[in-house]
Amino acid sequence: MAFQRPRRFDRNLIVIGAGSAGLVAALVAAKLGAKVTLVEANAMGGDCLNTGCVPSKALIHAAKLVADARGAERAGLLGPVGPVDSAAAFAHVRAAIEAIGPHDSVERYRSLGVDVRLGHAHITSPWTVAIDGAELSTRAIVVATGAEPVVPDIPGLADSFFLTSETLWRLHRAPARLAILGGGPVGCELAQAFSRLGSAVTLVQRGARLLPREDDAVSAFVRERLEADGVRVLTGATVASVTRSELRMGDESSVPFDSLVVAVGRKARTAGFGLEELGINRTEAGTIAVTAYLQTRWKNIYAVGDAAGPFQYTHAAGQQGWMAAVNALFWGLPRLRPDNGAIPAVTFTDPEIARIGLTEREAAARGVKVVVTHYGLADLDRAIVDEAPGFIRVLTAPGRDRILGATIAAPRAGDMLAEVALAMRRGIGLKGLFGSLRAYPTYSEAVGAVAGRWREGNAPTRVLPWLARLHAWRLG
Ligand SMILES: Cc1cc2nc3c(=O)[nH]c(=O)nc-3n(C[C@H](O)[C@H](O)[C@H](O)COP(=O)(O)OP(=O)(O)OC[C@H]3O[C@@H](n4cnc5c(N)ncnc54)[C@H](O)[C@@H]3O)c2cc1C
Repeated sequence: MAFQRPRRFDRNLIVIGAGSAGLVAALVAAKLGAKVTLVEANAMGGDCLNTGCVPSKALIHAAKLVADARGAERAGLLGPVGPVDSAAAFAHVRAAIEAIGPHDSVERYRSLGVDVRLGHAHITSPWTVAIDGAELSTRAIVVATGAEPVVPDIPGLADSFFLTSETLWRLHRAPARLAILGGGPVGCELAQAFSRLGSAVTLVQRGARLLPREDDAVSAFVRERLEADGVRVLTGATVASVTRSELRMGDESSVPFDSLVVAVGRKARTAGFGLEELGINRTEAGTIAVTAYLQTRWKNIYAVGDAAGPFQYTHAAGQQGWMAAVNALFWGLPRLRPDNGAIPAVTFTDPEIARIGLTEREAAARGVKVVVTHYGLADLDRAIVDEAPGFIRVLTAPGRDRILGATIAAPRAGDMLAEVALAMRRGIGLKGLFGSLRAYPTYSEAVGAVAGRWREGNAPTRVLPWLARLHAWRLG
């Protein structure tokens, strides 16, 4: 491929896509004094603000208010809680997007020194990008084009007016009967929220368990919580075909619906903007192939966020965005590489599921020997008064207190995980966590308690009998 490298450049950096990854990349570049252009073809803020984290968490919040109101009977609320008008929940979703929108707006980014262009970017050479036809030259490019929903090849699906995480937010009310295909984080979060808002929800999962990335105990726990909220969960279920009003299942049964949501995963957006012409490869997972420093085969072209993977989280996208921007602008100096080993991940069901590092399944698959320390919230005072089920499980290497992974199922588990994440990053083991003081009664005490369990299991057995003798002797 012969491309002519320009002798002068219009820009230090062009960032394609103004989602979680691209926004951070552009901001960091502007802060570092670079001349940077950020191109967005659709809506500033990308998936997270418009169709992902923000609307889903707003819907989950509204649904929790309803669930809590229903639970208030146990606290002596007299009389039944009335019917729910879910239009208010969807109004809350739109209000949340509007409230957070200014953080990601064209105005804000222009005021911070970023040249924002609304249009479709096409990479025409390793050093040039055409924005709706108008070409700019640049020293470096960051590709942050995100991901889009996967639509499985099921007979009839294409004609069934199905929704995805991108189109779902056009709804103004929860449908009476909702079918959801896919029991991953998005499917589970939506199933519980819609059920609480009054939909009769059927969650259809092809695999044997919900949340297949998690350990068996977690999948079973989430299933139990979803069913307690009225969700009908079908696992090991195949959909043979889809009509406009029902799923025809492999076992000849059917699932009638008023709306169908397809949430079977999202695939990197890599086509139609010039990568193929530059010979930039994709991985087996369909993401853009990058080095540990986030470079593609063209060293001045970086790829970040959902487009590059391996994660599909806003915080991972943001971290990759700033690292790629720094690498792109100071190429040749010590370069940044994300640590993919300790990325926190949260599924925002109620209770939340928060995970970091290895799961038991991953450890077994990789032949890594681990000790699992379990602490159930049934023993935690705060969880007892709140009537909150859950647990924390921590994986350590045998005989050592170094944390290899942790999963927490609890209210605000995502927040609790921050302490474990910091410990892992800073090399603080369970002994160090045990020594830290937490306010009573808080959920964070569960972290100290699991560390205490580990200590009990690893007490110095040879010393203890001597200590007992010493104390006996001191009695006189
Ligand atoms: C329902 C749902 C809930 C989620 N909840 C969470 C959560 O709670 N926590 C979490 O961490 N993550 C969550 N995620 C994932 C999170 O939204 C993504 O990981 C994150 O938004 C990825 O950011 P990104 O910048 O890589 O891509 P995106 O945000 O998708 O941004 C890519 C942008 O690039 C633009 N673009 C693409 N091609 C071009 C082009 N050629 N020219 C110009 N612009 C282009 C697109 O229009 C888009 O705006 C959720 C996702 C979904 C679907």
